[in-house]
Amino acid sequence: SCTADGGLMYSWRLILAPPEVLDYVAAHEVAHLAQMNHSPAFWAVVERLYGDWRAPRAWLRDNGAGLHRYRFDG
Ligand SMILES: [Zn+2]
Repeated sequence: SCTADGGLMYSWRLILAPPEVLDYVAAHEVAHLAQMNHSPAFWAVVERLYGDWRAPRAWLRDNGAGLHRYRFDG
């Protein structure tokens, strides 16, 4: 399916990601356990777990590897 193909592509792109981006992805996923959205409260959790998330988030965007694009709008 399209979703499976997209998931595979996403995984390949993550393999190529810098280590700090992978740390950010992990923090992002953990933060969703507390906040199942992308509210300011969610980003506050990410910042507590990871630190300044803006650089790795921009890296993912620039490399076309959006986070869990099939589960969330963001
Ligand atoms: Zn998210």
